[in-house]
Amino acid sequence: MAEFSDIIGQEQIKEHMQNALKTGKISHAYIISGENGSGKEFIAKIFAKTIQCEEKEDRNGFIEACNKCHSCIQAESDNHPDIITITHEKPASIGVNDIRDKLRDDVVIKPYASEHKIYIIPEGEKMTPAAQNALLKTLEEPPSYIVIIILTNNINAFLPTITSRCIHLSIKPVQDDLIRQYLMEECHVVDYKAALCASFAKGNVGKALQLASNEKFEALKNATIELISKLKGLEIHDMMDRVHEILSPDEDDEKNSKNGIDISQLEDFLDVLLFLFRDILVYKATNEEEHLIFSDKLSYIKDVTQNCTYDAINRIIGNMEIAKNRISSNVNIDLALELMLIGIKETLWQE
Ligand SMILES: [Zn+2]
Repeated sequence: MAEFSDIIGQEQIKEHMQNALKTGKISHAYIISGENGSGKEFIAKIFAKTIQCEEKEDRNGFIEACNKCHSCIQAESDNHPDIITITHEKPASIGVNDIRDKLRDDVVIKPYASEHKIYIIPEGEKMTPAAQNALLKTLEEPPSYIVIIILTNNINAFLPTITSRCIHLSIKPVQDDLIRQYLMEECHVVDYKAALCASFAKGNVGKALQLASNEKFEALKNATIELISKLKGLEIHDMMDRVHEILSPDEDDEKNSKNGIDISQLEDFLDVLLFLFRDILVYKATNEEEHLIFSDKLSYIKDVTQNCTYDAINRIIGNMEIAKNRISSNVNIDLALELMLIGIKETLWQE
């Protein structure tokens, strides 16, 4: 059962919530912001469960829920009558009716069994201006027992009148080391894989967890490095055929693809290349394996280091950054990738 001691990083948020629990001064409205996968809902649910717990305990330096009382059991099974998650009818937006029916008209009903009644609004950025205005009415005169927790990946999506009435808690990227340790200790991920997933996740715990359990990512990584190691013998169209094979979207995932390329896979593909050549650079400078992200590809990394100058490796990394920029400024993806791969090929085998 998740509790405060399970939240990795986020010291500020933990401190704020713990203070509120200790003093009993729970605010009427919070906004928790952070990118998708960063743990907004996880943290909100722990906070809500602990607020409602009938037998809070002081454990490991935190005020924690007891995880045993009636309230905790209801909260754990998402069945607590006084912890309400606001769902919405349309996937793309939270409309005025959603807020009016499920929140504004509901707040007048007192809590069933607890001192507080907690509303969690996931994907708060999807609230239309009309929905936000409906919410504002409640925020202006909140009944004493209510706590509203808005979750969002974009704090700028709210009217200033909303943000000024909420306490804003922002989720920060978590250090790679903490994520790596967590994956190894709590999820039993092997060390090199944990390091790899932590590097790729860029501080996002949810993304790291997803990568660690995702076989597709492992396959993408291996296919990408294989492509680069065989670049020498490939003509341009062969290269691009392989790229399209590696990055082909799932049949049921059309919305995430562009020109037959899976966009989120493309991001990982470019990161694999960038991290690979950073590894090559690090190995050339130190001759040590322990700092490598792709320590499972050591023989290839050694091979390139022996045949490449610092200058060449730096040029390749520069090339990749240009490709990333081109793609983000909407240059044709195939063209950007083609230029990048030709650049890598020429640089790797010119000397
Ligand atoms: Zn409890």
